[in-house]
Amino acid sequence: MKAVAVNPAKKTLDLIDAPPPEIGGKTEVRLKILETGICGTDREICQFDYGTPPDGSDYLILGHESLGEVVETGSAVKGFKVGDLAVPTVRRVCPGCVSCDNDESDMCFTGNFKERGIGGLHGYMSEMVVEDESNMVNIPHELRPSAVLLEPLSITMKALAQIDSIQRRMQWKGRRALVFGAGPIGTLAALAFVNRGYKTWIYSRIHENGMAKPLMEQVGVGMISSFDYDVDGLLSGFGEFDIILEATGASQTAFEMIKTLALNGIYVFTGIPGKQQLFSFNGTEAMRSIVLKNQILVGTVNSNLSAFEDGKANLLDFENKFPGVTPNLITQRVSYDEVIPHLLERKKGEIKTILSW
Ligand code: BGC
Repeated sequence: MKAVAVNPAKKTLDLIDAPPPEIGGKTEVRLKILETGICGTDREICQFDYGTPPDGSDYLILGHESLGEVVETGSAVKGFKVGDLAVPTVRRVCPGCVSCDNDESDMCFTGNFKERGIGGLHGYMSEMVVEDESNMVNIPHELRPSAVLLEPLSITMKALAQIDSIQRRMQWKGRRALVFGAGPIGTLAALAFVNRGYKTWIYSRIHENGMAKPLMEQVGVGMISSFDYDVDGLLSGFGEFDIILEATGASQTAFEMIKTLALNGIYVFTGIPGKQQLFSFNGTEAMRSIVLKNQILVGTVNSNLSAFEDGKANLLDFENKFPGVTPNLITQRVSYDEVIPHLLERKKGEIKTILSW
């Protein structure tokens, strides 16, 4: 079968012919992959900064964002039938970990988890995939145009779940949300905040994100360009924010933005910066703010099945409330033969590029 893989030892990225996976367990499902998303993590793996092949393999098939169609089911599969659409999750549990044993592998304690297309397991950038039904979400056909975005949306769903659990510490609930970044996680997070009734802004290098501005303005998100407003200008021009969700990995600006966080505010980091980014930053001012204003800074990574299920419900809401907006976050669909340059470089104006099989 056709697949896209890296060989980290040889530092190569290739279109390959790989053996198709076969159903091995009674609860496994075989998917014909329809679409695979490309994200920053895939690009880091293609730069060989990240990514580990499965044991015994010298290559790693990429891809952790996907949408597939069920083509075969094991004899004990209950939740899927041939013809259903499905999105598989990313992380697989490690043995003997209290989080992994309790459906919270996104909070794994040991670091011995595996991630499909990232660490220790082949991913979804291939024509066929086999996965246990317990690691997949059944997708209604009406979500066919946007369901490949479910994995990045699940990352924001987990972030919102963290915010919800933190907000249980008091009666007051924040109403003003700022998202830093207008890529897939940032735009999906903004839709999720609007869907929950927050007054929402995005702060980003807007002129580099051609479609993000009109799409977000259509749903009432205020778009603030970092070319027009530095962080001090953001604060004086727009005031403080109760919730900030960072989705860029731009560590310096992300830390400077602590000064825009309101009393009792929550700041969630989701971006993973490259290594060795040193910068100077007024930590004293930040620490005074965090303590004197009861602020919380929290990091979040990955997402478990419940976040995917929340994401599915949100995708249905988005389609009802903002018809056509979510599918338009997919700014380009490319074919198998065209995909390599898109894995090596993010094209100007891209929100999300998809490999369409
Ligand atoms: C994926 C997560 C994963 C993380 C770290 C992200 O791109 O969306 O599922 O846990 O990378 O590997």
